[in-house]
Amino acid sequence: MDVDAGHGAALGGALPTQPGELPLTRRLRSLLAWPTAETDPVSHLVRTHRGIHAGADPSVLRRAYTIAENMHRGQFRKSGEPYITHPLAVAQICADLGMDTTTLVAALLHDTVEDTRYTLQALHEDFGREVAHLVDGVTKFDKAFYGKAAEAETIRKMIIAAGRDVRVLIIKLADRLHNMRTLGVRSAASRERIARKTEEVLIPLCDRLGIQTLKRELDDVVLLHLHPEEHARIARHVHDRPGWDAYLEDVVAQVRVALRRNRVDADVSPRPRHLYSIWKDTVAGGHSSPYDLPRIAIVVDGPATDCYAALGSVHGLWRPVPGRFKDYIASPKNNLYRSLHTSVCGPKDRTVEVLIRTEEMHRSAEYGIAADYRFPRAGGGAAAARDEQLAWLHRVLDWEQDAADPAQFLESLRCDLSESQIQVFADGRQVVLPAGATPVDLAYELGTDRGDHCLAARINGRLAPLSSELEEGDVVEIFTENDADNGFEAETAPRGPRREWLGFVKSPQAQMQINRWFAEHTEPGISISDKVRLGRATIGLALRQHNRGLASDLPLLRLSEELGYPDLETLLVAVFDRVIEPDEVVRQLIDLVDHRQ
Ligand code: MN
Repeated sequence: MDVDAGHGAALGGALPTQPGELPLTRRLRSLLAWPTAETDPVSHLVRTHRGIHAGADPSVLRRAYTIAENMHRGQFRKSGEPYITHPLAVAQICADLGMDTTTLVAALLHDTVEDTRYTLQALHEDFGREVAHLVDGVTKFDKAFYGKAAEAETIRKMIIAAGRDVRVLIIKLADRLHNMRTLGVRSAASRERIARKTEEVLIPLCDRLGIQTLKRELDDVVLLHLHPEEHARIARHVHDRPGWDAYLEDVVAQVRVALRRNRVDADVSPRPRHLYSIWKDTVAGGHSSPYDLPRIAIVVDGPATDCYAALGSVHGLWRPVPGRFKDYIASPKNNLYRSLHTSVCGPKDRTVEVLIRTEEMHRSAEYGIAADYRFPRAGGGAAAARDEQLAWLHRVLDWEQDAADPAQFLESLRCDLSESQIQVFADGRQVVLPAGATPVDLAYELGTDRGDHCLAARINGRLAPLSSELEEGDVVEIFTENDADNGFEAETAPRGPRREWLGFVKSPQAQMQINRWFAEHTEPGISISDKVRLGRATIGLALRQHNRGLASDLPLLRLSEELGYPDLETLLVAVFDRVIEPDEVVRQLIDLVDHRQ
């Protein structure tokens, strides 16, 4: 809350006053009309930001706010509030996450290019290249020009922009969070549509970036809009759990004593689940009443080894529930989440869930990729972790080159983000694959060459068909044609992938690579339709270097007319045959599209 505003109200004056301030000072303040919490809408934002980044310069935030306020003046949200309240709230969400000044500036301006006469070029001149890139990344494609594909194309564009600067996704998530918070004023139909899209793409993205603090709120607000009566039921349950607090207090106290006895320095606290998480477990377990176990978190002060010492203390205190121990420190989740999880049979025979982690693991569990911005002095280890965290994003961008259209790209993205994943072991490391993946998926995950030439697989020591579904924890060996001593007849083995693999592979990565192999290896008998497809992919690739994409054939169609081709196919074949340079096509396409918009 605004402390200054509180003082002002308490004193009954129009001006906020500092405690102990003399009347003269107050008069002077009024004469100088220095912006205060009541007159200055940016003060809360600035205070949050400087609370985390003490050296940050607030003047650029004020400048960004002034321009955004000016541009959006006269526009209103569906709730009737002035439009500027939205970008300000989005910037506040970013500030609370601990993002840097550049992100906050871009958040304040994120809707100006889309919704006002402020141009990207003006933005670039006023605030620089980085801010312009961030705002462009969250600017939607024009529905009027791109039609039905605008939405999928917008997501594709955003992902491409995020490949260069991941802050694009953080602004988009904050934008969606505020829109979801204020969804109440929309019609039931649009509430459901927006909530579904949030659930399908943005929440998995948020999860993959590891930003649990945002994800919890997004989860709960989706539940509120999609299942209002369930949301109310769980909220009621959480509100009146009899004896719950006293029980947790007792658990926490006993754990503290046990840890002290074992000389483990740690912070112990109750860790309630959020509504959506309780609801999900209730539904998954088929429970009639909300399924919600008491849960605590132990954040140790020392290194990761202290987590295991803490685990020993807890298991020495209460009997562990079999099958509930998970070591996400040795095997982090795909969003790099690390912690130990266990359940114990606690006081009064009630099951208690326990999370154990280091301070650093706790920070990255809460803030994920945003932790790098919130705690910038974390050092080289954090940068390496971020690279690893973004490896999936770059892989998604690799498919983007191959995906024929934005809808297919979106489908690949959804598949990659889907929660059902398994971990298997190969080449002495663990590999994350989509549930239902086969040895061929694994081979392509290990490397394109391994995939193209894989011959056979051994799963847990037994030879198995390449189409076998892998299961969690399988130890898999892949044999390829190139292995000198693979035990298979090299002469009789077919070269390259088999077409039937397309029938069983699960990962978009494997699918694309198999298709690519066939596209490359069917020359010189390459068909016109292949040339058309590859010509289109070439243009897509060149567009991507300009951070652009194509949602429909319309601009291409117009260009082919303008260049004097009889039809679009002929232009695409010409691109494939390099009769016309793809860069030239792209330059003209961008001209055409930007001009029409
Ligand atoms: Mn917005």
